[in-house]
Amino acid sequence: MSTLNTDIAIIGAGPSGLFCAFQAGMLGMKSVIIDALAAPGGQCHALYPDKPIYDIPSQPEITGQALIDALLLQNQPFAPNYLLGQQVTMVEGDAGNFRLKTSLGQEITAKAIIISVGSGLFMPNRPPLAEIELYEGRSVFYHVSDKQKFNDATIAIAGGGDSAIDWAVALGPQAKKIYVIHRRDKFRAMEHSLQKMMALVAAGKIELITPYQLHSLNGENGLLREVVLTDLDNNKRTLEAQYLLAFFGLKTELGPLETWGLESHKNHLAVAAHNMMTSKAGIFAIGDISTYPGKLKLILTGFAEGALACHNAYNFVFPNKALHFEYSTTKGLKS
Ligand SMILES: Cc1cc2nc3c(=O)[nH]c(=O)nc-3n(C[C@H](O)[C@H](O)[C@H](O)COP(=O)(O)OP(=O)(O)OC[C@H]3O[C@@H](n4cnc5c(N)ncnc54)[C@H](O)[C@@H]3O)c2cc1C
Repeated sequence: MSTLNTDIAIIGAGPSGLFCAFQAGMLGMKSVIIDALAAPGGQCHALYPDKPIYDIPSQPEITGQALIDALLLQNQPFAPNYLLGQQVTMVEGDAGNFRLKTSLGQEITAKAIIISVGSGLFMPNRPPLAEIELYEGRSVFYHVSDKQKFNDATIAIAGGGDSAIDWAVALGPQAKKIYVIHRRDKFRAMEHSLQKMMALVAAGKIELITPYQLHSLNGENGLLREVVLTDLDNNKRTLEAQYLLAFFGLKTELGPLETWGLESHKNHLAVAAHNMMTSKAGIFAIGDISTYPGKLKLILTGFAEGALACHNAYNFVFPNKALHFEYSTTKGLKS
């Protein structure tokens, strides 16, 4: 894999990182955007794609996903390089000559780095079951990347929110049998998804097991055989199942970022409010991850911070060139 040489490495493809790539392009700087998730959009994409946002300037109402789609479209003239499904695991070097490495082994050189990792990496909440790690990746999953794997299978799906219901509905027709396990009788999912699930329940493809929660797993060599459940009175019930899909929401972790030696304050990167630079020259932080007195954690704040960071990163990318400020109306979409 050959090293990617760029001007700005943007870590995190949430709304702040995406708009930052546009700002970099406007200033004639090439950018690479790296994100741990398989799709860009950060919280807007992963946590609330269908929810309307009301406080994006000039957009009286726009859903999380529609905002991300618009940002991606706006970036097209500058064709930033998106490296998705990989996290940045290593950063070394100094301003003008940084080296980064991702979890897929991609090496990148950049003259400046802009960190826009929000609250960090989204990680699934794992159910606290003994030896669950022995089954993870073979019989126990927290997301579905290959639907075909579940053809004609017996699947236990645990959780009561949109992900659990959506996957029960999506896999229902191809699976042999699906058990949906929830600790309450009521589900917290979109009405139309619930209706689809109830149709599959009526067709005998899905069985609802409520109010029950996961107790333990039985199997050999990472291959699941049974899922043991308990109800509120501690009565046990055992289901035969080949797979367990557990959807208990996502938590966030800063991950390797904590080892990069940047000054932090309560899990946020401390920056100078006038230029967004962290405690290390040439490394900037914007959006939810950055902090300074008076910080407001809003999408629009991340946009402005991206513009500020890029105007200051320019000095590290073009050390011998003065930056002449210009409006977009004056210069157009050319760098
Ligand atoms: C339910 C909900 C509703 C909201 N409503 C509003 C609203 O109405 N208005 C508003 O202004 N804000 C709202 N917010 C807040 C808004 O979504 C955040 O302020 C915004 O998403 C922050 O953007 P960001 O780009 O800084 O970070 P994020 O959106 O968190 O994106 C960060 C990205 O960085 C990636 N990442 C993390 N670590 C690494 C790593 N080491 N390597 C590679 N990638 C990494 C993550 O995978 C993620 O994609 C809402 C939030 C939630 C949860």
